[in-house]
Amino acid sequence: MKFADLHLHTQFSDGTFTPEELAGHGASLGFAALALTDHDTVEGCARMAAACAAAGIEFIVGAELTAEHHDTELHVLGYFLDPQNQKLLAEIAKFQAVRQNRIREMVARINEMGVPLEADSVFALANCKSPGRPHVARALVKAGLVSNLDEAFERFLKKNRHAWVPKKKISALEAIELVHQAGGLAVMAHPGLNRTDEIIPALVDAGLDGIECFHTKHSTTMSERYLEIAEKFNLLVTGGSDCHGFSKGKPLIGGIKLPYEHVGKLKEKRFARMAANSK
Ligand code: AMP
Ligand code: ZN
Ligand code: FE
Ligand code: FE
Repeated sequence: MKFADLHLHTQFSDGTFTPEELAGHGASLGFAALALTDHDTVEGCARMAAACAAAGIEFIVGAELTAEHHDTELHVLGYFLDPQNQKLLAEIAKFQAVRQNRIREMVARINEMGVPLEADSVFALANCKSPGRPHVARALVKAGLVSNLDEAFERFLKKNRHAWVPKKKISALEAIELVHQAGGLAVMAHPGLNRTDEIIPALVDAGLDGIECFHTKHSTTMSERYLEIAEKFNLLVTGGSDCHGFSKGKPLIGGIKLPYEHVGKLKEKRFARMAANSK
């Protein structure tokens, strides 16, 4: 059996692995295909593509975009994106500018709470254009200001805590359009985490291509539910670990093994759309 993991993060956003380390873990685990889906960036994809090619793994360019629909946050995964697409890159640049300002704002709020974290220490640790809350949490641990990441989220960073600052979101309908115009397929990420089932029909009307049925945080019941929804709306099925690095002492990649036939179906839809667009 061939397997894929289509939801992975590296140091180009808030993951802790380099693309080479991630591809190395993928190779040891015997994956046939991997997709990189860093938050609001495609920057790591060139290195990941090279590392996967060297390991004999098929690679799919991807990204995870933060979106919303009627005030509900959801994440849109784009697959087979053209990493040079100008509109995509322009939109990503806006996301990244907001993420960087947001780090300063979160640090200022942490300072208001009497905790002397420095924004530059977060930027130095993140060393990427898409910094996020995990980097603030890691900088707090590194500075000895909290004892672990959970404490950082509990005290400061969880939604509605004092230092929580919302991110830039684009409308889910725009996200789907952005992915399509960049040559990609648009997939709703981990629907079980956002509890956003009621918005699925509107996304399908906007051209949603697939739904992430298999995810580390989906129970078996959830996966079954989303497989039924995929069938009902004629959506492609995807899945991935959402690996950000080590979890409980081992790499999270490997926890989800998507049967490769789903990658084949994604490619069929992508080629059919390319053929239709070139007419
Ligand atoms: P951001 O995109 O900056 O809002 O950060 C979101 C990321 O933070 C997620 O992808 C998770 O990796 C991580 N995260 C969110 N909530 C928690 C939490 N309570 N504990 C640990 N990590 C979290
Ligand atoms: Zn993340
Ligand atoms: Fe996500
Ligand atoms: Fe993710």
